[in-house]
Amino acid sequence: MQDILTICNYCGCGCGVYLSVDNDQVVGSYPSKNHPISRGNLCSKGWQLHEFIHSDKRLSSPLLRKNGSLQEVSWDEALDFTAAALMTAKQQYGPDSIGVLSSAKCSNEENYLLQKLTRAGLGTNNIDHCARL
Ligand code: SF4
Repeated sequence: MQDILTICNYCGCGCGVYLSVDNDQVVGSYPSKNHPISRGNLCSKGWQLHEFIHSDKRLSSPLLRKNGSLQEVSWDEALDFTAAALMTAKQQYGPDSIGVLSSAKCSNEENYLLQKLTRAGLGTNNIDHCARL
């Protein structure tokens, strides 16, 4: 069993949390007593931070709607489709016709990269995140 100090990714408070790892599986989460923000406290979301990581309800492959139903496709196909659709929207209606929603189930680093792609790549500030407080 290993305990890894990290920051809760569910909201912008940034509470300090330990993730308990056993056999390459994240099996628990508990507060860091010495963290300067949370000082040993977590809300109910922070205490359950580990539960979604290995959930069998998570999507593990991209889905595209074809002929009215969602079908599993490769990452290359999904990314090519998405890039083409975004470029078409940008060319026809301008960059502010695009909006991007990020996720608290991504790491802070992934969220940073997505806002960078949105602002610098797509040319819009239309990006938001469910954890914005
Ligand atoms: S969701 Fe709760 S535990 Fe996580 S950072 Fe926000 S207040 Fe802290």
